[in-house]
Amino acid sequence: MLLKSKEQVEEFIKERNIQHFEAEEFLCKCGCGKVLIESQLITTLEALREHIQKPVVITSAYRCPSWNKQVGGVSSSAHTRGLAVDIECTNSKDRYLILKFLLSRGVERIGIGRNFVHFDLDDEKPSPRVWHYYYEKR
Ligand SMILES: [Zn+2]
Repeated sequence: MLLKSKEQVEEFIKERNIQHFEAEEFLCKCGCGKVLIESQLITTLEALREHIQKPVVITSAYRCPSWNKQVGGVSSSAHTRGLAVDIECTNSKDRYLILKFLLSRGVERIGIGRNFVHFDLDDEKPSPRVWHYYYEKR
């Protein structure tokens, strides 16, 4: 279910008894107050939080089109359609645990950044895929 406002996200969090995330965390980081988020991402994050027993920090969830442009996202980004989240991840052990968990939940699109893990539910894009954000200078 695609949640389309902060109120809808708050309602979902309350209804499903999501303990570790607040609606604020899913809003566009530009301050526009907008949000779009597939509720399945929230339940996956909560289950991940329970599984790793550590805070899960969302670095990017919904991005409005102008913010997406500013942060250099591709225009078709799953973030602009509420289908993606990035979470902070700065060590190899957590990266392993996060990936294992996401794969066990059937998440089929994962991107590995230097200090984050992206995952999305964009079924308009190829899957299964695991990619990275490194560009070697040769
Ligand atoms: Zn925005």
